[in-house]
Amino acid sequence: MTGNTKQTNKEVLLSIENKNVVSSYFGAMTFDQKAMRARLPKEVFTALQDTIRAGREITEEIAGVVAHGMKEWAMDNGATHYTHWFQPMTGSTAEKHDAFLSIDRDGTPIERFSGEQLIQGEPDASSFPSGGMRTTFEARGYTAWDPSSPAFLMKGGNCVTLCIPTVFISYNGEALDAKTPLLRSMNAVSKASLRLLETLGTKGVSRVKTFAGVEQEYFLIDKKFYSERPDLIMCGRTLLGAMPPKGQQLEDHYFGAIPDRVLEFMQEVEHELYLLGIPAKTRHNEVAPHQFEIAPLFEEANVATDHNLLIMEVMRKIAEKKGFALLLLEKPFAGINGSGKHNNWSIGTDTGVNLLDPGDTPEKNIQFLVFLVAVLKGVYKRADVLRMSISSIGNDHRLGANEAPPAVVTVFLGDLLERVLDAIESGKIDLKTEKQVLNLGLSQVPVVNKDYTDRNRTSPFAFTGNKFEFRAVGSSQAVSVPNMVLNTLMAEAVDDMADTIEAKIKAGKDRDSAILETLREEITATKAIRYPGDNYSDALQQAAKERGLPNLKNTPEALRVLESKDVQSVFVKYGVLSVEEIESRLNIRLERYVKGVDIEARTLQLMLKTLVIPDVSEYQGDIGSSFNNLLSASDEIGLSKAALKSQAGHYRTLAENLSLLIDLTSELDEVVEKLETLDGEFAKADYCADTILPFMLKVREVADRLELMVDRSRWQLPTYSEMLFEH
Ligand code: ADP
Ligand code: MG
Repeated sequence: MTGNTKQTNKEVLLSIENKNVVSSYFGAMTFDQKAMRARLPKEVFTALQDTIRAGREITEEIAGVVAHGMKEWAMDNGATHYTHWFQPMTGSTAEKHDAFLSIDRDGTPIERFSGEQLIQGEPDASSFPSGGMRTTFEARGYTAWDPSSPAFLMKGGNCVTLCIPTVFISYNGEALDAKTPLLRSMNAVSKASLRLLETLGTKGVSRVKTFAGVEQEYFLIDKKFYSERPDLIMCGRTLLGAMPPKGQQLEDHYFGAIPDRVLEFMQEVEHELYLLGIPAKTRHNEVAPHQFEIAPLFEEANVATDHNLLIMEVMRKIAEKKGFALLLLEKPFAGINGSGKHNNWSIGTDTGVNLLDPGDTPEKNIQFLVFLVAVLKGVYKRADVLRMSISSIGNDHRLGANEAPPAVVTVFLGDLLERVLDAIESGKIDLKTEKQVLNLGLSQVPVVNKDYTDRNRTSPFAFTGNKFEFRAVGSSQAVSVPNMVLNTLMAEAVDDMADTIEAKIKAGKDRDSAILETLREEITATKAIRYPGDNYSDALQQAAKERGLPNLKNTPEALRVLESKDVQSVFVKYGVLSVEEIESRLNIRLERYVKGVDIEARTLQLMLKTLVIPDVSEYQGDIGSSFNNLLSASDEIGLSKAALKSQAGHYRTLAENLSLLIDLTSELDEVVEKLETLDGEFAKADYCADTILPFMLKVREVADRLELMVDRSRWQLPTYSEMLFEH
């Protein structure tokens, strides 16, 4: 058995003859169920599966055998090193490679990988942000294997490395990563939902799972342009650049034919992803020129999060190889559509029932309505936390830019569900009568909603038939945080609903009346979060004000939410984050924001001083000498005063704008210098948002104006037109 599989694996990896038969090599680079079954003794395989299912800790005995099987599998596929792959609080991933090689006591070289090495690692934690958490405790951090996400092989150059997905925790067990809180939140929502299901009378469920399907948008531009733009290299977005005459007004890119060169990139990316067991499903052009999307099928939230991080990593690698630069930041080009990451989220039972899918029996429909209303309740109560979860420099430029959902979180349900909820609220529907529940037409919801939601792309949080689509997430962000928040707010809402229903039953109501009454109350209480209209409109801004919905305009405002005792208490109550863990995350995100803006401002200074001002000065020199020549020849050639004046005017406009730019550039120096003199991270962050970023825009306006006046051959920076329209 083993020998046979070895050969198959190797064959698959070394020469995949037919890339079209994806199912024949899907997951070949992962230590998945198939590989485990082949590599592990039957008892160990079964024991491992049981442990994973129950979420228990792996015993050292099992770990030893698993480690051996994993190492053999990895080595047969060319691996020489292993790494604990984890997600520090920077939003990306980290790894430190160790060789399998060790030297025996008698000097014999041998490859070893012990159970202990599999389950626990000790990377140098001091190089990762802790938000101040470990200074008071131990400086050490540990990585621990997350067996629910399969180990995989990563190729880079000629190296193959065994990557073991892990969590990253401190000596005292505090989460130093983004994954641990996500896993905790998945447990919290499961526990609360099991209780609610029991209250509803649903039997036979032992775990409720959270699912995520993550649609990833990105830009691809030619590497030669990228390498000449310090702003793209340093900040991931352009800080300067005049709008091209043809923007995306024509929207002819969307769903248009994918250029061959990009298609080749996509195919290679998908091939790598399939090997890694990532079910890439959809690829298409996006709204802006050079903007595209990739979406895999949905998976359990922790695996989907890992996979989204891997997708970004694989895309970056292949882009490099193909002579492209991959732009993942939310708003790489001002005035051009930005990139987001639609996070499709749902919860379902281990018996295969999607709790957000309207069923075809009255009981299932009631269950659906209860969970749907719980989502409304959770999002309404914690809209500010949800907003906080997706705040970043890049996303601040995108949210509310009339192309992406605004900073106000509302929920879109679609016409049919709106009517159903209204009917329940007004008492027109009595859920107790079987016939009426069926008459609600809930079974049509998925079909109807698909059409509707396609028409309302402006909603940040839209119901799309059997899942919610959180559309405000930024394209560069890891989805661990938004999903962690969604799960936590859901756990709280579900618990509250169960409390209310149970209290009513205790007070003598029969179960159906208790449920119906609770639904009615909650539909009324959460009405303010439902917004069927256009979220890009002024009406939404007005409605937000009237309804008292939070409207947190930028990252510092959004991050303040984490200081609220009430917000902290919900994370603590559900065991997702301790107060200390919350504070550490707040510190890290504030610091990253301030550093990020500082880097942007300094990059802009550099570009103005070393590229833009010198280029314009040179051109001004050209114009100056041409004007002087003209002046001295004007009598001779009989040039009218008026004609001479026009050219003088042109010269003057150029000179005036250049002088203005020079003045603003030195003012920018002062504005940036002041940042360091401020006390406190919030003061600094506010200063970045309120002063530095607006000032950068003011300078940019002049520079962009000049770009349109200067001879192209004098302008060193690649232009928007070149980056976006040349292939
Ligand atoms: P749309 O085009 O309407 O946004 P798609 O059917 O293309 O929807 O799905 C988008 C993403 O949502 C995909 O990743 C898909 O796998 C995922 N998805 C579908 N059903 C669910 C679900 N029940 N829970 C979470 N994600 C889902
Ligand atoms: Mg979508």
